[in-house]
Amino acid sequence: MFKVRIEKLRKKITQLGLDAFLVMAPENRRYLSGFTGSSGVLLITKNQNFLLTDFRYIDQAKIEAPDFQVIRYDGSLVETIKNILERLFIETLGFEEDFITYKQYRELREGIPKIKIFPEAGLVEKIRMIKDQEEIATIARAAKVADEAFNYILGKIRPGLTEIEIALELEFFMRSQGASSTSFSTIVASGARSALPHGVASEKLIEKGDFVTLDFGCIYQGYCSDMTRTVVIGEPDRKQREVYQVVLEAQILALENIKAGMSCQEIDALSRTYIAEKGYGQYFGHGLGHGVGLAVHEHPSLSPRDNTELVPNMVVTVEPGIYLPGWGGVRIEDLVVVEEAGLKNLTDSPKDLIVI
Ligand code: ZN
Ligand code: ZN
Repeated sequence: MFKVRIEKLRKKITQLGLDAFLVMAPENRRYLSGFTGSSGVLLITKNQNFLLTDFRYIDQAKIEAPDFQVIRYDGSLVETIKNILERLFIETLGFEEDFITYKQYRELREGIPKIKIFPEAGLVEKIRMIKDQEEIATIARAAKVADEAFNYILGKIRPGLTEIEIALELEFFMRSQGASSTSFSTIVASGARSALPHGVASEKLIEKGDFVTLDFGCIYQGYCSDMTRTVVIGEPDRKQREVYQVVLEAQILALENIKAGMSCQEIDALSRTYIAEKGYGQYFGHGLGHGVGLAVHEHPSLSPRDNTELVPNMVVTVEPGIYLPGWGGVRIEDLVVVEEAGLKNLTDSPKDLIVI
C-alpha cells in the first residue's frame, strides 16, 4: 500500500525534474510512510526513502515505516538533510511550500547553497484525494461514530444547558467509541449564533425557539469524519421551517446528482443556484463541501473556484447552509463517497427537521 503511494509521488517528482522531495506535512508523512509520530520529515529520492526523526520516535518509526530508512537527528534537521543530499549527489530538491516555516526555509537555503530548491504545492495532497478501500472503510467507521453520537446527543439536548456542555457530551461519547479525538473544534451554535458558520461551542445557554447547529466529527485510526445537523428547540415558526426546507432541498439536489465525471464547480452550482432562486443566495457564503481523509479539510473543494473533476473514491462533504445575521442559520452536512454512477452516503442520521 505505502509502496504504491510512494511510487505515485516518485513519478510526479521525476516529471518535475527533481532529484528528491522533502515531505513535512504531518498527514502526508503518515500517508506515505505509516509513521504516526508527531515529529519527522520524509526525504524521497529517485530510489530511496528516508524518514528523519528524533530519538523519541526511532523505535516507533522503524516498526511503523518499514519501507523507509529511519535516520535519527539530534541537532540540526537541515544538517542531517544536507549530509544525505551531499552523499547522494542530489542537485535539485522540492519541498512543500505550505508546510515549512520561514526559519526552516532560511536554514535550508543557507545550509545547502549548492542545491537548487523548488517550492511545490499539493503534490501528495492530489494523490490523497482518491481513497483506497481500506481508507474508505476507516472513514465510514469514523462517520458511524459521529452518527451514533448525534443519536445519543438528541436525548441530552434541552433548554438551560450551555453549548459547551453539549459539545462535551458529544466528544465524550465519540471518545468512548474508540475515537482518538475530535476532527476539529466541535461547533454547537444556538439561536442567533447559528448564523455563525463556524460558531464553536460557547457558554451560551440553549433556549426555547433556538435553532441549534451541531457540526462535529471524530478521528478514528487517523481518519476524520465530519457531519452537521440543525435541530430546533420547541415548535419551529414559519420562517424556521422555510429556511430549513430550502437548505434540505438544496442538499438533496446535490446528493441526487453527484457522480464521477462532474466537476466540483458544477455540483456546487446546483445547490447554490437553488438557494439563490429561493431568495437566500447572499446568505450562503461558503463552498458546498470539501474532501475529507487524514485531514478534515482536504482536496478537492466543492466550490465555485475548483474545477477538479470528481473521480470514484473521492470522499467529500455536501453541506449547504443559510445564515441570516442576527436571526440564525441552518446547515446540513453529509459525508459521501463519489462513485461511477452516484454516491455512497456515509452519514446516516435523519434529516427532517427534528423538534426537541
Ligand atoms: Zn462540518
Ligand atoms: Zn465540513
